[in-house]
Amino acid sequence: MKYKHLNGNNNPMPQLGLGVFRVENNDTVKDAVKHAIISGYRSIDTAWIYGNEEMVGRGIKEGMEAAGISRDELFITSKLWLDDFGRTQVAAGYQKSLDNLGLDYLDLFLIHWPGTDESLMIETWKGMEDLYRAGKVNHIGVSNFNIEHLEALKAQTTIKPEMNQVEFHPYMTQTSLRNYLKEEGIQMESWSPLMNGDILKDETVNEIAKAHNKSLAQIVIRWNIENDVVVIPKSVTPSRIEENIDVFDFSLTPEELKRISSLNENKRIGPDPAEFNGK
Ligand code: NDP
Repeated sequence: MKYKHLNGNNNPMPQLGLGVFRVENNDTVKDAVKHAIISGYRSIDTAWIYGNEEMVGRGIKEGMEAAGISRDELFITSKLWLDDFGRTQVAAGYQKSLDNLGLDYLDLFLIHWPGTDESLMIETWKGMEDLYRAGKVNHIGVSNFNIEHLEALKAQTTIKPEMNQVEFHPYMTQTSLRNYLKEEGIQMESWSPLMNGDILKDETVNEIAKAHNKSLAQIVIRWNIENDVVVIPKSVTPSRIEENIDVFDFSLTPEELKRISSLNENKRIGPDPAEFNGK
C-alpha cells in the first residue's frame, strides 16, 4: 500500500480504498467491507446519502476483528449531505454519520457537493473548520468542488480543504482542476475511477492490460496511483475486491500513462458540480 500525507493530523491516508456507493444497507455491503479489510484494504469511503453507513460500520467491526487490527489502523471517510448545510448544522450531520457507523471519530469528513448557494457553502465550510478545530475529526475536505468553489473558500475562510474528491477516469482527466489542486497542496481523490464499469471496455486499456498480464481494472487503478490520485474503486465481489488492490507489483511506462491520459473526452457520468443542488 502507498500512503498520502494530508495537511491535517498526522495519520496518512492509504492511496487505495474501497468505495460503497449504490449498495444497500444490508449484508452485501457489510461482507464487502469485511472482505476488503481482510484482503488488506485500510480505507473505506461512504457517505450519509448512501444510506448504508450502519452496515458499513458493522463490516468495519467484523473486518477489524477478523484481521486483528485496531481502529487507528483504518482510515474511514464519510460525507455531509446538502440537507445538513449551515455552520451550526455540520456538527449534527457529523454525529449522524458517527452514530450510523458506530464510530467515535472519522479520519476524513467531506462536504459532499458544493450546492448552488455560495454563502451557504461558505458557512458550511466554517462549520467543518469548527469540527476540525474542536479535534473531532482528523481531516476535513470537499467533494465535487470546481476551481471557482475552492477560490471562494480561499477568499472567505481560514483552513484549506485537505482533499477534493471528484469524478476522474481516463475519459474525464480534469487537467486544469488537477493542476490547480497540485499548486494549492490539496490532495485529489477520484470517484467512479472505473467509470462504473464502462472503462473496462476500452481497447487501449485492454492492450496495455495484455502487455502487463493484468486486468483492465488494475491498469486504470494503477494509472490513478501513478498520477498521485487517491483511488476508491467499488466492488462487492470478493474476487474483484482482491484484484483491485493487487496493483503494487508493476508500473506503467511513461508512454502508457500518456496513452491512457490521452483518452480524455471530458465525459462526465455524474452531475455537473456547477449546477447540482442535490435534487
Ligand atoms: P466504480 O468506477 O468504482 O465502478 C464500480 C463498478 O465496477 C461496479 O459495478 C463493480 O461491480 C465494477 N467493478 C469493480 N471492480 C471490478 C473489476 N475488477 N472488474 C470488473 N468490474 C469491476 O464506481 P463508483 O461509482 O462506485 O465509484 C467508486 C466510489 O467512489 C463509490 O463507491 C463512492 O464511494 C465514491 N463516489 C463518490 C461520489 C461523490 O460524489 N463524492 C460519486 C460517485 C462515487 P461489482 O460491485 O458488482 O463487483
